[in-house]
Amino acid sequence: MKKILMTAAAAAAISMLAACGTKPTETVENNNDKIQVYTSFYAMYDFAREIGGDMADVHNLCPVGSEPHDFEPTASDMAALTEADLFIYNGMGMEHWTDSVNETLSGSDVIIVEASANVENIAENYDPHVWLDPENALAEMEAIADGFIQADPENSDYYTARLDDCRGRIEQLDNDYKTAVAGFTSHNIITSHEAYFNLCNAYGLIQLAVNGVDNSEDPTPTRMAEIIEFIKANDIKYVFTEPLSTSKIVQTIADDTGCELLTLDPFEGSTEDKGYFDVMYENLEALKTALQ
Ligand SMILES: [Zn+2]
Repeated sequence: MKKILMTAAAAAAISMLAACGTKPTETVENNNDKIQVYTSFYAMYDFAREIGGDMADVHNLCPVGSEPHDFEPTASDMAALTEADLFIYNGMGMEHWTDSVNETLSGSDVIIVEASANVENIAENYDPHVWLDPENALAEMEAIADGFIQADPENSDYYTARLDDCRGRIEQLDNDYKTAVAGFTSHNIITSHEAYFNLCNAYGLIQLAVNGVDNSEDPTPTRMAEIIEFIKANDIKYVFTEPLSTSKIVQTIADDTGCELLTLDPFEGSTEDKGYFDVMYENLEALKTALQ
């Protein structure tokens, strides 16, 4: 939509990144009638396209099928960002690289949205995966819609209408979760990635995770033994893994306890172009299988 002159700081940051030997430059084709939106990873990408609809070209920085916790933007990503209308990220430490990006973009015309900024219903345990509570996902969509309206005020009615549509679907999703949870006979979920404190907070579930909140650290032998003991003591039949990473340790735990594996998707990336509501309903079916 618009071209922005690169600031000296941006140019310096780009040449610094380029010097570190990142992947070759990819050119992004811009449709100049639409606002150019960049998002940090898949959940933000999906929310941006829900709000932006036909008015926006939404580009996702974290490549398809990659884990956002390990992602770093390349020099070409940085160059593209300096020409964006809107940059959207989750915040709360989900993207450890945004401080330097925001510094690079400060003083430019790029509108930056930290989607989690107005999220209120945050789980007590530290967990940046706030969007897995539908109420929080709506707060993020609202922040994103505000960003769109600021970047493209002429189309504010369009973005507001799309946000209203999301609001209705979020309400339905939340009701469907509440109805299902009322019929659960167990509330304990064993997960690989410790990504579900906010989901648990919303619906009164309890998470016991094998790997940490950024999905990297493996459990100690003591922790492994605790988890296996917990599964046996509570007669748990299913362990949740996730689409982007299959933990061998989770498989070992399942083998040791006779549990079956089910998929719970933290919505950090999709190789099948699924949307938030698709994934949240798939997760609900998996939770019903495990807990009803
Ligand atoms: Zn995660």
